[in-house]
Amino acid sequence: MPEDSTNKSLLKELTFQLAVTRAMLKTVELDQILYIILSGITHGDGLNFNRAVLFLAWDRRNELRVSRSAGPSSGEEAHRIWEGIKAERLNLESLFDRYTASLGTPQYLTSRLVGFSVKLDDAKPLDSLEAMHFELQDIISHCVATRQPLCINGIEANYHDWMTGEFLTFKNFACVPIFLKGEVFGVILTDNIFNSRIIHPDELRGLSGVANLASIALERAMLYRKLKEMAQVDGLTGVFNRRYYEKYLHDEFIRSKRLQRTIAMIIFDIDFFKSCNDTYGHECGDHVLRQFAQLLKNNTREEDMVARYGGEEFVILLTGETSQKDALNVGEKLRSLVEKTAFDTFAPGKITVSAGIGFVDPDEDFEQLFKRADQALYEAKRNGRNCVKLYQP
Ligand code: GH3
Ligand code: MG
Ligand code: MG
Repeated sequence: MPEDSTNKSLLKELTFQLAVTRAMLKTVELDQILYIILSGITHGDGLNFNRAVLFLAWDRRNELRVSRSAGPSSGEEAHRIWEGIKAERLNLESLFDRYTASLGTPQYLTSRLVGFSVKLDDAKPLDSLEAMHFELQDIISHCVATRQPLCINGIEANYHDWMTGEFLTFKNFACVPIFLKGEVFGVILTDNIFNSRIIHPDELRGLSGVANLASIALERAMLYRKLKEMAQVDGLTGVFNRRYYEKYLHDEFIRSKRLQRTIAMIIFDIDFFKSCNDTYGHECGDHVLRQFAQLLKNNTREEDMVARYGGEEFVILLTGETSQKDALNVGEKLRSLVEKTAFDTFAPGKITVSAGIGFVDPDEDFEQLFKRADQALYEAKRNGRNCVKLYQP
């Protein structure tokens, strides 16, 4: 390559890396980071690939799954998008800023690859890269095992979805590993199926550069997620803490006003918990609290919110349409489950709980919800404990 054009392509590469770095530093949201990576790889001012897929071991450690993708479903669609980008003079940076506009847009390749998975521990290299065609899993597995980027032109890699019976083909493709703390954590797959542009091995350098930036951004995103979780979760019991409960309740009220629906709350309070502490020690008390919190969590619906309000008091917010009868059933089911459960060194029946249930309509003052449930709890205690009471005005 003449010196001039070498300089030009180096400059282009550096400008690109700088734009990606800048965009990634602006966010700690995983999905936005993935969007930036994929937009950079597929934009004409970026690495100029037709399509790209990111496989990450994010939710299921040790297993690569599709996290995000960029790329149209056909050559015609690719052409239309490209014309649109040209007409709008959409440069890389303005494309990066378009993240929110892209939310909710269906990702064709993601939907076609939902069943794809590669276990990191089982990854093994291919014996040979000379073949008539490849299975996509084998190629990704090869990239994980060798920890090296690769590109293959002219030979197809196919993904066969056994559920739908459909094939997805990648052609003129490249794979690059993403590392986190020295271990493979993801793979970028990219291809040129629509224009059949041959991938030059030099292009792997640009892709690896993006993979390196991705790994830094992903580490930040992970740390952020952990911190966010820690700020929301009660350290002792693992259910949501009071601060998160308050924020959630506030948001839930706005939702319930809009949807004109009633909210139900159950407050649980462990009976004679002080004597459990006094007789068997604080550590035993902690153990009971943890076990009780998990019992609540494991026996409520995913969409019901369980939080530790303080001490030995826990709240459950029942979202969606919940009648008084439904709420009483939930409360009673949990109360009787506690009665039948052995906690720490306590035989079943030794640890019991009382519960109060309150409701608030969308046009009422939402401060009333907790007050009503608390008053009902007081009634339950007065009534001899180990029972559930509904607020009576
Ligand atoms: P009642 O049936 O009326 O609810 O009686 P109670 O003894 O449960 O009520 P009280 O509110 O007097 O006691 C609550 C006890 O909970 C007092 C406190 O020592 C204990 N407690 C609060 N937080 C913790 C904690 O994090 N760990 C432990 N082990 N105990 C806690
Ligand atoms: Mg109490
Ligand atoms: Mg108590």
